[in-house]
Amino acid sequence: MDFTLPPKVDALRKDIRTFVAEEIMPLECERANYDDHENIRPDLLEELRGKAKAAGLWAIQMPEARGGRGLSMAEMAACYEEMGRSIFGPVVFNSAAPDDGNMMVLNKVGTEAQQRDWLQPIVEGRVRSAFAMTEPDGGAGSDPGMMRTRAERKGDRYVIEGRKWFITGAGVAEHFIVVARTSDDVRKGLTAFLFYRDQPGWEIVRKVPIMGPEEHGGHCELVFDGLEVPAENMLIGEGEGLKLTQIRLGPARLTHCMRWLGMAKRALEIAGDYARERSGFGVKLADRESIQLLLGTAAMQIEIGRLLTMKAAWKLDTGDFARKEISMAKVQAADALQTTVDTAIQICGAKGYSQDTPLEWMYRYARQARLVDGASEVHRMVVSRFLMQEGLDYWSWP
Ligand SMILES: Cc1cc2nc3c(=O)[nH]c(=O)nc-3n(C[C@H](O)[C@H](O)[C@H](O)COP(=O)(O)OP(=O)(O)OC[C@H]3O[C@@H](n4cnc5c(N)ncnc54)[C@H](O)[C@@H]3O)c2cc1C
Repeated sequence: MDFTLPPKVDALRKDIRTFVAEEIMPLECERANYDDHENIRPDLLEELRGKAKAAGLWAIQMPEARGGRGLSMAEMAACYEEMGRSIFGPVVFNSAAPDDGNMMVLNKVGTEAQQRDWLQPIVEGRVRSAFAMTEPDGGAGSDPGMMRTRAERKGDRYVIEGRKWFITGAGVAEHFIVVARTSDDVRKGLTAFLFYRDQPGWEIVRKVPIMGPEEHGGHCELVFDGLEVPAENMLIGEGEGLKLTQIRLGPARLTHCMRWLGMAKRALEIAGDYARERSGFGVKLADRESIQLLLGTAAMQIEIGRLLTMKAAWKLDTGDFARKEISMAKVQAADALQTTVDTAIQICGAKGYSQDTPLEWMYRYARQARLVDGASEVHRMVVSRFLMQEGLDYWSWP
């Protein structure tokens, strides 16, 4: 594995870093720049999205033919980290969840017509999207096999009945992907469908209030009561919902890691700046061994996360599903984010607990990282299964 960035990609990474520092970070300190989701105010977002597009920093994960930059996963890692340094960063570049994961999966598996009608409007930033899988009341969560939402075929249409919750961005999304049960087959029982916001037969029954800041549109509970989807709006094919989910969630989990590691790096920058300036008892904080241990440990945890993320990205780029590598990266990056932000707050003292820095925002946001797109325990279970199946080959050299 050689993680050297081609000069063109490194130049792109630097351009993103400059854009984040000059255009986005200055907005973070003013509360009037936030909306009700504690995210960037929509009018400011639109303005910045226009600037990002003009600067050629838009939807870089998409092929050039679609208006992106056609980066590999490993190249994306370097750029997404830079976006993640600002709490408003990824959404400005159209690289935030859930649009990011939805675009990548539609780009991979969508038919030509699906890509034209459902993907391209998301790529161009004309619409937002959502992915609906998780269910309340004992349905699908960590185990998709528990799915209760059903899609019944009637002629050339499917009729969907059921309930979903925690659907990120549903409050503003126009394009949705929903996964529903089409049979009781263990492997081939689920199917994924596309639907538009303005179709009848479904509604948002509530926004689920959460602990931290959230994506535009919040996290919603959806009820399906006879939503009719034409068969041509099925993704891949009937019974391929589990496959679709795996294709979507692998890269989407990894881009979460990339953004989170950028956020963790920023938290450490803030802590480092404070430690360099602040003195007590005649000694700079940065010169105290106890503080150096905290900073050094956090830096190591971030770097372990980056190495795991880069290895998984490299594997995805070779065409592998990289399941165990993505699971390891997801667990490590989520832990590194949470512990680093906590450390940064401790080093910054009362200022870290205030809203004068983005640390308290990050602290509340970071807690979801160990849950979304698979709880850490489930990823550890996946890793353990590979270990038990592969034995010594688990550690094989590429
Ligand atoms: C902020 C946020 C955004 C989200 N966005 C979306 C979205 O856009 N679309 C969507 O479909 N879903 C979304 N989700 C849901 C998310 O994917 C699920 O929360 C996650 O898959 C876990 O499912 P669950 O909450 O039902 O937990 P459960 O399955 O009830 O698990 C609860 C806990 O049990 C433990 N556990 C479960 N299985 C195992 C195991 N095998 N071994 C050991 N321990 C285990 C874990 O500690 C786990 O946290 C979101 C969740 C959050 C918090």
